[in-house]
Amino acid sequence: MPEYDAVIIGAGPGGYAAAIRLGQKGKKVALVEKDRIGGECLNYGCIPSKALIEMANSIHYLRSLPGVSLDLRIDMERWQEWKWNMIRRLTGGVEVLCRSYGVEIVQGEARIVDRNTVTVGGEGHCRAATS
Ligand SMILES: Cc1cc2nc3c(=O)[nH]c(=O)nc-3n(C[C@H](O)[C@H](O)[C@H](O)COP(=O)(O)OP(=O)(O)OC[C@H]3O[C@@H](n4cnc5c(N)ncnc54)[C@H](O)[C@@H]3O)c2cc1C
Repeated sequence: MPEYDAVIIGAGPGGYAAAIRLGQKGKKVALVEKDRIGGECLNYGCIPSKALIEMANSIHYLRSLPGVSLDLRIDMERWQEWKWNMIRRLTGGVEVLCRSYGVEIVQGEARIVDRNTVTVGGEGHCRAATS
């Protein structure tokens, strides 16, 4: 069973920031994520919503200009593709940063067994040091 100084559950902004900081301090860290690195913020919340709002605002701005009339056709599939490419770049950056500080990323659902033990996906175990 691998042993760590800290096992962090969830690779959202809270989890990855903590993992990177601990890695910078020389701690042995596991970061467990059941879905996507970056959590709600990078994948579904702040970043994609702001990207789409920015696009919508740009269209609104163009339409508000005097003498401008637009006949727009919006390809939502292209928008989604653009949005996911941007998300992939950001989450990829977080992953690289984590790994550069020695953070081990473990994919799967974590369950706390006791104060020092976490199982991942019902199979792997991670043990965190007491303190
Ligand atoms: C539409 C929208 C827009 C937003 N816009 C902003 C904004 O502009 N500015 C801002 O500051 N905030 C914004 N937020 C809020 C922001 O997304 C959250 O504050 C932020 O994501 C919280 O980070 P977190 O790390 O605490 O949790 P999360 O980002 O939710 O990350 C938790 C992670 O833990 C994982 N997880 C949970 N349980 C387990 C388990 N048992 N095992 C393994 N992994 C697990 C989840 O899969 C998830 O990836 C927005 C949210 C939404 C929905």
